[in-house]
Amino acid sequence: MAEFGMTIDGVQVEASRTFGVVNPATGEVHAQAPDCSPEQLDSAFASAAAAYGGWRGDEDVRRKALHAAGDLLMAMPADLAATLTGEQGKPLKDAIGEVYASGMWLKYYADLEMPREVLQDDARALIEVVRRPMGVVAAITPWNFPLVLAAWKIGPALLAGNTMVLKPSPYTPLATLKLGEMLASVLPPGVLNVVSGADPLGALMTAHPTPRKISFTGSVATGKRVAAAAAPDLKRVTLELGGNDPAIILDDVDVEKVAARVFDSAFVNNGQVCSAIKRVYIPEQLHDAFVEVLAAKAAAIKVGDGMQDGVQCGPVNNKPQYDRVAELVGEALQRGARAAAGGKAIDGPGYFFEPTILTGLEDGFRIVDEEQFGPALPVVTYTSVEEVVERANASEFGLSGSVWSADADRASAVAEQLECGTAWVNTHFALQPNQPFGGFKWSGIGTENGVWGLQGFTDVQVVHRSKR
Ligand code: NAD
Repeated sequence: MAEFGMTIDGVQVEASRTFGVVNPATGEVHAQAPDCSPEQLDSAFASAAAAYGGWRGDEDVRRKALHAAGDLLMAMPADLAATLTGEQGKPLKDAIGEVYASGMWLKYYADLEMPREVLQDDARALIEVVRRPMGVVAAITPWNFPLVLAAWKIGPALLAGNTMVLKPSPYTPLATLKLGEMLASVLPPGVLNVVSGADPLGALMTAHPTPRKISFTGSVATGKRVAAAAAPDLKRVTLELGGNDPAIILDDVDVEKVAARVFDSAFVNNGQVCSAIKRVYIPEQLHDAFVEVLAAKAAAIKVGDGMQDGVQCGPVNNKPQYDRVAELVGEALQRGARAAAGGKAIDGPGYFFEPTILTGLEDGFRIVDEEQFGPALPVVTYTSVEEVVERANASEFGLSGSVWSADADRASAVAEQLECGTAWVNTHFALQPNQPFGGFKWSGIGTENGVWGLQGFTDVQVVHRSKR
């Protein structure tokens, strides 16, 4: 058996073909992953469908299994975090954090209650609303947080009684394949199948007749394709898509403190986070001091191979994304923006890009209007709060945003005017298992996490019992 196998019907399976997985810190292929054939995908869905009847029948078994799965991850299995760093690029300590958080999410769902709701109980009728599992779920994940975003789906889908076929991104299949192998030791065969392959495998999954629900995290462009593929047989979809999160800095902030925190929320995971800060709006009078702090942080952060000690920022995950960041930064500089820090790729192997702070630009620059998804942050000035809210909202995206002020009430009043799924006040990218997460507009359909995430893997059933 090769180092990385797929999990189909509880056993490790090789494919007749493989594809190379690049370590972004070197730019070299460092492992091979199985390229799932259409027949193997059929057998994964058949296995999930066969497992469904038994799995949905016993809630106690499901809770115990999810606890065991969470425990396995929180015990920090050897090599899983290193595998993640090797394919994703993030510093090892962040990969360890992701493994741990994945376990935490599974354990949260292992305990989450979803009670029957009694609408009416009187002489005329007992009317209850119950949540029923949907069947087989097709789950598709991106390359920025392969494990935790899979856990966001596995936990609620399996607790609700569904079974799953999961496909990670072809850029980061390895840790998820290992996850499938590990969890096969605590889940009945067929409950969680993990397959790997290039983008067309995702398209095959969404068009496949077996799944009743697609849970997708990825880009807006692919999300639209997924929605279209789900339409002919009315599969349910949850889409967690891109974002272009604004951070609005009000005029009363402690510049030193807030700029440092804004930096951290923009460059977390090297900026490759759907809900990272992607554009900063700052009053003219605070601009220079704020940029100075951001630039100093950018210059000081240690960039390098995530396996090396002390590295705080890894490479961009893949060549197309690296090229995109370079293109957006290059175009802004050409149009007259100034790099207060960084501004270009780092010479040498791997997909390293200097942490970049851009000023002297405005709305209408692509790096302000589009999702850069990388280590480059534009800082734009504004004159009135009313105007900045309008500009922040003038976007197809609506994932999240934040407002920063010494007066939290004042910031809250502004934050609640943002058209987005999460409005943070004096923080950003603050997520937890019980807090729903989802996007407005093109940032998605549906919600993950919390009880809302669990409901998303269920259908509503009314049981109306007449007492006459
Ligand atoms: P992507 O859309 O290119 O790929 C995501 C997944 O979809 C991959 O597994 C890919 O193989 C698969 N895929 C590609 N074509 C498909 C098709 N036609 N049908 C079905 N599946 C297909 O996204 P990416 O580049 O891997 O990830 C980056 C994007 O993900 C960013 O836009 C980011 O903002 C977004 N994202 C969103 C969230 C969120 O929760 N809202 C979280 C993380 C990332």
